[in-house]
Amino acid sequence: MTTPLVEMDGDEMTRILWKMIKEELILPYIDLKTEYYDLGLEHRNETDDQVTIDSAEATKKYGVAVKCATITPNAARMTEYNLKQMWKSPNGTIRAALDGTVFRAPILIKGIIPYVNNWSKPITIARHAYGDVYKNVEIKVPGAGKAELVFTGEDGTQIRETIHEFAGPGIIQGIHNTDKSITSFARACFNYALDTKQDLWFATKDTISKKYDHNFKDIFQELYDAEYKDKFEAAGIEYFYTLIDDAVARVIRSEGGFIWACKNYDGDVMSDMVATAYGDLSMMTSVLVSPEGVYEYEAAHGTVQRHYYKYLKGEETSTNSIATIFAWTGALRKRGELDGIKELEEYADKMERACIRTVEDGKMTRSLSLISTCKEPVILNSLEFIQAIRATYDTL
Ligand code: NAP
Ligand code: MG
Repeated sequence: MTTPLVEMDGDEMTRILWKMIKEELILPYIDLKTEYYDLGLEHRNETDDQVTIDSAEATKKYGVAVKCATITPNAARMTEYNLKQMWKSPNGTIRAALDGTVFRAPILIKGIIPYVNNWSKPITIARHAYGDVYKNVEIKVPGAGKAELVFTGEDGTQIRETIHEFAGPGIIQGIHNTDKSITSFARACFNYALDTKQDLWFATKDTISKKYDHNFKDIFQELYDAEYKDKFEAAGIEYFYTLIDDAVARVIRSEGGFIWACKNYDGDVMSDMVATAYGDLSMMTSVLVSPEGVYEYEAAHGTVQRHYYKYLKGEETSTNSIATIFAWTGALRKRGELDGIKELEEYADKMERACIRTVEDGKMTRSLSLISTCKEPVILNSLEFIQAIRATYDTL
């Protein structure tokens, strides 16, 4: 390796897996170079969360990061870790610093059959991560009265619309987005489609939301026509826009193998649906991509807290490390691509094949055995599973 990867360590069971993966599957095979940031909750607390900001800055500097799952503190964690503050979600902080879009895709394995049986290729969901209902303002209307939508420009001029003349109690919600954020989202989607050579679908409800959703549609189309049309044609891939209802129907009938760009709420809901339909949350990869082409790879699942508490009690765990291994291979492959190091890309491809082959050979963790069609699966504990992947790797 020539350029270091930004390595963001994390919490609980995934922190345990992180160490095992490095020792068993990475360090024996490659001359690893990383710049290490400990995003474990204790260290975030010690540094007043400065370490998260520093790791995001390093990601911008070097271009590629790999991240372990981290705890987003809540009231229970305040006591558990004796926190100075309820620190923000590291993923939120990193996403904001990189202005990034999250792409999630399932890892497909023979013997784990999607509920939608024509899905033979992965569907990648790109979720816009800013605004709409996630930055809403709401009022519970107490009784009769008039609700208005008012915009006051810097020069004082106003735009005013009546929302509703209430005859009795009800509810109102104000949501927003910005052209800047939508443009970044569109750019990240177009770049990722080119990068992975997959078609890009985008859908909203512009027939009903003639200004709000229509603005998303227009920004995508204008950027596509101005900067991406030729590149897409050269790459032999397609961008198209359709109504969300139509998209849902087409997604179900499809064979997969494309990127589905979703507004914030649609992406939240649809990514859970797609993940479940493909089989298992622990088989979902996730990559944050900035409009400038900076990449941060991670597993889509969390820190697997319940397994960690068993681990602390000295009980055996069978936690699936595949999505975390794919975060490493994704990052190493990208580093190889950017630095022109073919061996790194080959290592990543081979390690991913080793993961898949191991499960297809019937060796797996407990949660996979529950959804696998394998007749007599061998259920391994967390370390044994990683060692089985190493043994498979050595035979490839
Ligand atoms: P989670 O860690 O994803 O785990 C939820 C459940 O899914 C687990 O209890 C386990 O089920 C199953 N599961 C998830 N990943 C698995 C794996 N690799 N192998 C086997 N089973 C797996 O979500 P959570 O329990 O809601 O959250 C725990 C912590 O993670 C929270 O503090 C949250 O803030 C954090 N989190 C972080 C991220 C991130 O950093 N990107 C994302 C989500 C959540 P069973 O217990 O039934 O076996
Ligand atoms: Mg959700």
